[in-house]
Amino acid sequence: MSEKNFDLIVIGAGPGGYVAAIRAAQLGLKTACVEKRKTLGGTCLNVGCIPSKALLEVSHKFHDAGHQFEKLGIGVSQPKIDVTKLLANKNEIVSGLTGGIAGLFKKNKVTSIEGAAKFLDKNTIELTKSDGSKEKISAKNFIIATGSEVAKLPGVEIDEKVIVSSTGALDLDKVPGKMIVIGAGVIGLELGSVWSRFGAEVEVVEFLDKITPAMDAEVSRNFQRILEKQGFKFRLSTKVVSVKKDKKGATVEIESVADGKKETLPADVVLVAIGRRPNTENLGLENVGIKTNARGFIENHHLHTSVENIFVIGDVTTGPMLAHKAEDEGVAAAEIIAGQKGHVNYDVIPNVIYTYPEVASIGKTEEELKAANIAYKVGKFSMMANSRARATGDDQGFVKILADAKTDRILGAHIIGREAGNTIHEVVVAMEFGGSAEDIARTCHAHPTYNEAVKEAAMAVEKRQIHS
Ligand SMILES: Cc1cc2nc3c(=O)[nH]c(=O)nc-3n(C[C@H](O)[C@H](O)[C@H](O)COP(=O)(O)OP(=O)(O)OC[C@H]3O[C@@H](n4cnc5c(N)ncnc54)[C@H](O)[C@@H]3O)c2cc1C
Repeated sequence: MSEKNFDLIVIGAGPGGYVAAIRAAQLGLKTACVEKRKTLGGTCLNVGCIPSKALLEVSHKFHDAGHQFEKLGIGVSQPKIDVTKLLANKNEIVSGLTGGIAGLFKKNKVTSIEGAAKFLDKNTIELTKSDGSKEKISAKNFIIATGSEVAKLPGVEIDEKVIVSSTGALDLDKVPGKMIVIGAGVIGLELGSVWSRFGAEVEVVEFLDKITPAMDAEVSRNFQRILEKQGFKFRLSTKVVSVKKDKKGATVEIESVADGKKETLPADVVLVAIGRRPNTENLGLENVGIKTNARGFIENHHLHTSVENIFVIGDVTTGPMLAHKAEDEGVAAAEIIAGQKGHVNYDVIPNVIYTYPEVASIGKTEEELKAANIAYKVGKFSMMANSRARATGDDQGFVKILADAKTDRILGAHIIGREAGNTIHEVVVAMEFGGSAEDIARTCHAHPTYNEAVKEAAMAVEKRQIHS
């Protein structure tokens, strides 16, 4: 076998692709991963999960220093933000982690190849390098892991300075006076939080009548109230008609969905955060006969595309557009190719919003259970009654556990609270094992921890909670 002939070529080195490549190499497959970006790690490491969390962390500390420290007896002068240093710190974190993937490839003997891939036939891709040169490489199997890109709002031109996508919002060179966020989804609320905590006035325009629409409605309402207390303004049921740049920044023309009333809102920066779309352009799918669905995704059946030796994972296929979903699919696809029984449990994929407080969910919402006619019990516990939350001053939010009315099996859990993204994982594991609310209720939890609120919510399913 020549160097340019592999058992598996993975296209795209995001969390789906790089994880798939490493797992395949561990299983003995001669594996290459091709990536058109200069750095590995995809959206997640370069312009997604990691840089956004780096900025969220600093903005939280900044906000605490300016608003909480005095109450706690810590005297500091009013903090100032140096955006150049803020971005340098974020960029250093990103380059450390993307460089780490290169190290993991080396350790696991994955061949890393730079270039944009296009299928010529079902065993061959053509790579276009950044210098314009081309080469052909072939493999027995392929995994398409090309991820997603920012969805555009028709007629709105993103310049990444005044009218920005999430990518530009991670790189603003100063704190905007006023930021308008179009779209009240996870990315808009996280990045809105970053700049709001640094002092920007943030107004969110959302077409639907609630924020984070897929979320449990009670959680969504509470989350909105918490953000409003932090200074967020929301315009729900409101359509964006146009966004135009002007001398001061930009003007957003909006229209009420209910009565068609129009208004204009001035802004220094407009963040367009209406979602992401799958990356399939110039991939040569037509050369192998793979079709995309009406929304542009490549559909899969247990991660197989319609072509036997070509698999698909991550944001470019159906399911939640999340890094950990992409990673798990990467492992499963590699295992299937290596002859094992790779599998992803799509019923147990956690979802986290890394605002303050965090919002985390797993499994079904109350609305989904009602729609499916499933009888359920609810156990709720307020963070106000959790001693750790009281001790650290993080007592906003609650834990809600939904369990089957007959069997007590956990069907879903929803948490608002500090570190909810970590706290949720005991429920995730319990659900993966088919656990019941009683299983959690009877498990000894360390005191004082935020997770005791999960135990109490599990006890509350049978109305036997102790601390409320
Ligand atoms: C601001 C922001 C914050 C986010 N925060 C979170 C979070 O906290 N948690 C979470 O789970 N998810 C988060 N996400 C979503 C997460 O980044 C994606 O779900 C995840 O990156 C998808 O992984 P992937 O491997 O499918 O694709 P990607 O990460 O998009 O990687 C695909 C790679 O394929 C490459 N590629 C595309 N076409 C070709 C081609 N033809 N040839 C070669 N290479 C190609 C691309 O350059 C890219 O590097 C966030 C996203 C954004 C934008």
